[in-house]
Amino acid sequence: MKFKCRCGHIVVDRDSDLPYKGEIIRDQSYEDFYEKSSLLAGEFIKAINEGRRQDWIKSFYEGRDLNVSDSGVISDIYCRASVENGLNIFQCESCGRIFIEKHSDSNAFVCFKPVSDDWKGVLEVKK
Ligand SMILES: [Zn+2]
Repeated sequence: MKFKCRCGHIVVDRDSDLPYKGEIIRDQSYEDFYEKSSLLAGEFIKAINEGRRQDWIKSFYEGRDLNVSDSGVISDIYCRASVENGLNIFQCESCGRIFIEKHSDSNAFVCFKPVSDDWKGVLEVKK
């Protein structure tokens, strides 16, 4: 996905690890995000302990009988919750405008313009 900022810069959403992209979990979504994900992870662990691992995987992946590691399943549980509850946020690297997704997985954004000059790299992890 890509979109044009009001300044003309093209904001591109391609790989992961983008220094101008983030995700917002709204306070009212925390419970859904963490609690439901943790419950689902617990159900997966229980299915493993009861010898129903592959049946559980088939159900979680909507009928697909995949060969996924345990950590891959747990990761997918949190990824799914993230898509359902999180809002993508992007910053234009040219002018600093912030674009926050209106609804989870909507690709419709609300734009905010910074009022201070120290906006560069606000979403970047300093390594
Ligand atoms: Zn811009």
